[in-house]
Formats: sequence, C-alpha cells, structure tokens
Amino acid sequence: MTAQIPQNIAQVFQRMEEAKVQAGRTDTVRLIAATKTQSPEIIDLAAQYGVKEVGENRVQELKDKFPAVSSDLKWHFIGQLQVNKVKYILEQVVMIHSLDRIALAQEIEKRAAKAGLVMPVLVQVNIGREMGKGGVAPDEVESFIRQIAPYEHLSVQGLMAVPPAVPESEQARPYFKAMREMLLALRDKQIPHIQMRELSIGMSHDYEVAIQEGATMVRVGSAIFGKRNYLV
Ligand SMILES: *Cc1c(COP(=O)(O)O)cnc(C)c1O
Repeated sequence: MTAQIPQNIAQVFQRMEEAKVQAGRTDTVRLIAATKTQSPEIIDLAAQYGVKEVGENRVQELKDKFPAVSSDLKWHFIGQLQVNKVKYILEQVVMIHSLDRIALAQEIEKRAAKAGLVMPVLVQVNIGREMGKGGVAPDEVESFIRQIAPYEHLSVQGLMAVPPAVPESEQARPYFKAMREMLLALRDKQIPHIQMRELSIGMSHDYEVAIQEGATMVRVGSAIFGKRNYLV
C-alpha cells in the first residue's frame, strides 16, 4: 500500500487540476490530506511527495502525531471536537473546520485569547440535514455566524460540509452547489469580521465534483493512503 502513495498523490493533484480546468477556475484549491489512522512515517512520506497540509479528526491522534512528524506541514482539525479538548490542538492547527456549536466557539475564543492568537475556523453545515451528524442546520447558519461574529479571537473564514454518503459522486453535486450558494449569500450580507472565502467540501469519492462546484479545500484520505482498516 505504502508503495502506491507517491503515485496516488500525483494522481490526486492531476485530477484536481483537471477539475479546475473543467470549471474554468484559475484560483487555488488546497489539498488537505486526511491522515487519520496513518502513522507519522506515512505522513512524512506524503510530505516528501508534495502534500503540504494535513487534516486530523481525532484530538488524541493529532496530539500523538504532531510531535512525531518531522516534515513542515500545516495541520487542520477536521473532525468533531469536544469542548474540553480544544486546549490540546489550538496551538498546533492552522484551522478548525468543524465549528458547529456556540459552546465550542466560546471555548475556542477563550483559549485563543489566552494563547494570544486568532484561530481561523470554518462553520460546519449539516447540509443533508442528517440525524446525529455534526454541523449547524442550514437554516440556522446565518444566525449562528451572527452570534459568533463579535468574538475577537476566532476568525470565520468560510464553510465546511460532509454531505450524506451517496453511491455516485454526481449525487453529491446538489449538496456542493447548495454549499456554494450559501457561501455566496452569506458573503453578500457582509457581516462584520466574517470572511466567506473558504469552502471545505469534497473527499476521495467526489473531490473533482466538489472542485467543479467551488471547493477551495478538499479533504482526501483513502485516495492517497488506500482503504483504512477500520471506519473512523
Ligand atoms: C476521513 C475524512 C475525510 C477523508 O475521507 P476519504 O473518503 O478517506 O477521502 C474527509 N473529511 C473528514 C471530516 C474525514 O473524517
């Protein structure tokens, strides 16, 4: 499996580029390699082949791996985040993609103030309105953002979503479109202190469709590292 990683990365970059061309885009789309369950050695290997940013979705894993990885990478937090664990990741990550609760925003604000930093965040949207899934309900996103807009130590940069699992990537397209429309509608409102420029959508199965629909970041795991041994 490891032997495939360099060519997998090259292929993902190439397909990202092709999707951009298809969409007539000339702006930047960032690859966030989703590294859950991958060892520090594998992460260093990926870095050698052009990966510059990684996303972890478990606090414990990030805590363990961050000091063990020698490459100069940007780390993102992309998974569900418990309030009491914010303190363990705040100074390691460049962005938290999964802000979806006021209590979590309050904790990030408090901890970031203490650390003397401003934490870039994305608001996670439960775009498929799925039960038990993280994310703010689509019709509550604006009021959520207005509530956290005054927080001085977190900086909303855009939106993130994990749409419902669908068998065909084309079936994800309407969700991506809805996310892009939401981003633009919120941008038009010009809410003070709120940036609406980043759209973190698209995973191994559907990152090309996501790029065609306006993703600025794709979070890709198995297309780079192969199938995981267990579901996370
Ligand atoms: C695992 C994970 C990904 C990547 O999933 P793949 O299907 O392996 O590409 C993206 N986003 C989140 C939040 C994840 O947990």
